[in-house]
Amino acid sequence: MSYFLSEEQILIQNTARDFAINEVKPVTKELDEKHEFPTALVNRCAELGFLGVSIPEKWGGAGADCVSECLVIEEIAKVNGSLALIIDAHCSLGCMPLLHAGNEAQKTKYLIPAAKGEKIMSFGLTEPTAGSDAGGTKTTAVLDGDHYVINGSKCWITNIGVSKTYIITAKTDLGMKGSRGISAFILEAGTPGFTVGEPEKKMGLNSSYTGELFFNNVRVPKENLLGELNQGFKVFMQGLDEGRIAISAMAVGMAQGALDLAVAYAKERQQFGKPIASFQGTSFKLAEMQANIDLTRTYLYRVAKMRDLGMKYTTEAAILKMFSSEMCVNVIDKSLQIHGGNGYSKGFDIERFYRDAKLLMIGEGTSEVCRIVISGAVLA
Ligand SMILES: Cc1cc2nc3c(=O)[nH]c(=O)nc-3n(C[C@H](O)[C@H](O)[C@H](O)COP(=O)(O)OP(=O)(O)OC[C@H]3O[C@@H](n4cnc5c(N)ncnc54)[C@H](O)[C@@H]3O)c2cc1C
Repeated sequence: MSYFLSEEQILIQNTARDFAINEVKPVTKELDEKHEFPTALVNRCAELGFLGVSIPEKWGGAGADCVSECLVIEEIAKVNGSLALIIDAHCSLGCMPLLHAGNEAQKTKYLIPAAKGEKIMSFGLTEPTAGSDAGGTKTTAVLDGDHYVINGSKCWITNIGVSKTYIITAKTDLGMKGSRGISAFILEAGTPGFTVGEPEKKMGLNSSYTGELFFNNVRVPKENLLGELNQGFKVFMQGLDEGRIAISAMAVGMAQGALDLAVAYAKERQQFGKPIASFQGTSFKLAEMQANIDLTRTYLYRVAKMRDLGMKYTTEAAILKMFSSEMCVNVIDKSLQIHGGNGYSKGFDIERFYRDAKLLMIGEGTSEVCRIVISGAVLA
């Protein structure tokens, strides 16, 4: 398949593919079984420039574009969803709000080490009572002299524990209703009163750590307000648009990885004296999987390109995220079906894909939330 990539993009794609096949794939199963964070692989991603791939060189990144970031995430997701999610949360959710809303001093202090991969980042929006309704933030930040005092908690935050920098939201004007009166803050790990919970016991993505953050009178210097006071929700919504592209790159990569597994298995597995690939019941499934992946990938690169060109892409990002995540879950289901009973076994990789993929329909705006965004545009 041809996607009209530039020479630079193909080079980045090949580098990511070699890394995924030679370094990530061989250790993925063991990391998943041990629920182990892939520290060595994350360090290699930093060396390869993957943790700041689309951040300008001035701010410590590789200076490539959003399409290139998609290519990196896609190649890694073909073999390891957890590592792809770690990169996604760091790059698109963590670094991008800093790039778009940070001032010079904040970018120098926090974005440069993040883009170089020296300091991993997290994005903290979700709270126990504010999930899809992210404007329902209960965490508060009250100005006291030169500091904001933060109280409250967050949940389901990716990269907890390993992150050194957290971008979080807190209500700064209790008089303002809904998503208004919320501000964004940069919070350093180790700040007194800021504690991190144990990783959640999730159904999949075992090597990616996700969990709670607790703020008990955490004093954050005034200069760590990110963007304008009471305008934090906009910062996070822009971050989510970026995140929806990155998570869709995961969806395309994981679907391709599952198709590759199905093709290999269907050629190998014999029933009724023939490879199961020779039955149309199987080969038509493979054809549909390929068609769905190819069309979604084309739309993925289109939306990433819109972002690179500075166009508005909120609706397209929601269409992409809704469609790609559901496509991925569907393709993986078909691949598992082609694997028969073996697909249901821990001995075969497709079982891990099946567990990992479901998150794609939930994180960074559920499928239903994406439909709210899309229908709002349709009916406008
Ligand atoms: C592995 C993992 C990693 C995550 N990483 C992060 C992270 O790094 N940072 C972060 O901030 N969050 C993160 N999240 C949280 C994630 O973004 C939320 O789980 C998601 O936004 C949904 O919120 P909720 O779980 O509270 O579900 P709820 O909002 O309670 O939704 C429950 C169900 O109701 C539906 N629903 C809700 N409102 C409506 C409506 N108006 N119309 C129709 N249906 C509706 C939802 O679509 C869903 O099906 C992560 C979650 C997971 C599982």
